Amino acid sequence: MTYVFAPMPTPSLPVAGTSERFPVRRIFCVGRNYAEHAREMGHDGREAPFFFTKPADAVVENGTILPYPAATENLHFEAELVVAIGKAGRDIAEADALDHVYGYACGNDLTRRDLQTQAKQAGRPWDMAKGFDGSAVIGAIHRVADVGHLDHGPIQLTRNRELQQRGDLSDMIWSTPEVITHLSGLIAFQPGDLIMTGTPAGVGALAPGDTAVVSIAGLPDLSVSIGERR
Ligand code: MN
Repeated sequence: MTYVFAPMPTPSLPVAGTSERFPVRRIFCVGRNYAEHAREMGHDGREAPFFFTKPADAVVENGTILPYPAATENLHFEAELVVAIGKAGRDIAEADALDHVYGYACGNDLTRRDLQTQAKQAGRPWDMAKGFDGSAVIGAIHRVADVGHLDHGPIQLTRNRELQQRGDLSDMIWSTPEVITHLSGLIAFQPGDLIMTGTPAGVGALAPGDTAVVSIAGLPDLSVSIGERR
């Protein structure tokens, strides 16, 4: 079989402590998974988890200098725990959910907030707000065998070394096993799937020249810098 042009290379992330890479299949994201952030976005109360996606090739690694994205005047950071799926499954019970986790990483769910606000107001999809090129900043994957399961401890983000977001993984409205259970009722997980599990309160804007650093207890920091507009 031949293709009419070269298929895209498999997006991937480094696996800490190895020379191997984690092939990225799909990127699922959880909306409003910390109560204080839900409130700052104008929502209250526990709602069923909802999900959106980013393209696999939106992934960029630690240390990237990302040109300021097109079509926005309000690029936002969102510090998030990323769950890496290593085992296929559908309709996964909560008690079995962690068996499907290969590892964890720090993530930054970059968002064109102005486009998201417009989409919400018009009842339109979020794709162009959330799924643009370079929008999934994700650090090296750390294997469960090395770091265990991460379900508590500080998650924070600094912009130019000033604290902007601070929360605790235990504040997630829907825990990692609960997220896996819900999502696996909607899609069949495959190895290589990633889940960005939502962000605590304190989201804000990044400008050209800014550096955002995500820190999560048990993982090394994840840094991204914003360059000039193309
Ligand atoms: Mn997010």
